[in-house]
Amino acid sequence: MIKDLVTDLSNFFRQHAYIEPFLKADNTGRTGEFLQSPDERKELDGLYECILCACCSTSCPSYWWNGDKNGEEEYLGPAALLQAYRWIADSRDEAANARLDKLEDEFKLYRCHTIMNCAQVCPKGLNPAKAIAEIKKRMVTRPAKTKERA
Ligand code: SF4
Ligand code: SF4
Repeated sequence: MIKDLVTDLSNFFRQHAYIEPFLKADNTGRTGEFLQSPDERKELDGLYECILCACCSTSCPSYWWNGDKNGEEEYLGPAALLQAYRWIADSRDEAANARLDKLEDEFKLYRCHTIMNCAQVCPKGLNPAKAIAEIKKRMVTRPAKTKERA
């Protein structure tokens, strides 16, 4: 018998899977360790610590309204977007442009309106809104559109 509150997080984890939360790099011919400089590693501070508790997404009004559409008109929410940026910012990852392409429509990224609830509730002290702002910055500063680029 199930007692107490049981939360269905399948939508949350579907969105997490959508951002492909793993390193994408061509390892052909690579031997030895995959090194980063201390500065490159520092870029991941404030991102890798996320424990996927979902507090940020469930506190986000934009996510309440647009978070469960499972399709084109869907906002991915702060947790998935923080994780998306964790991989975009990783110096070892070679798929940043393809990752940005997957976020580029009116809803998946741009439904964040900087309300900042996400940063206030995160038990790890992370700031998903800042990560989202960084993705938006990369979106406008990258070279022209790239559907084919890896
Ligand atoms: S800053 Fe963006 S992600 Fe965070 S609560 Fe506001 S709308 Fe949601
Ligand atoms: S509240 Fe913080 S730790 Fe929890 S999912 Fe969001 S960013 Fe990650």
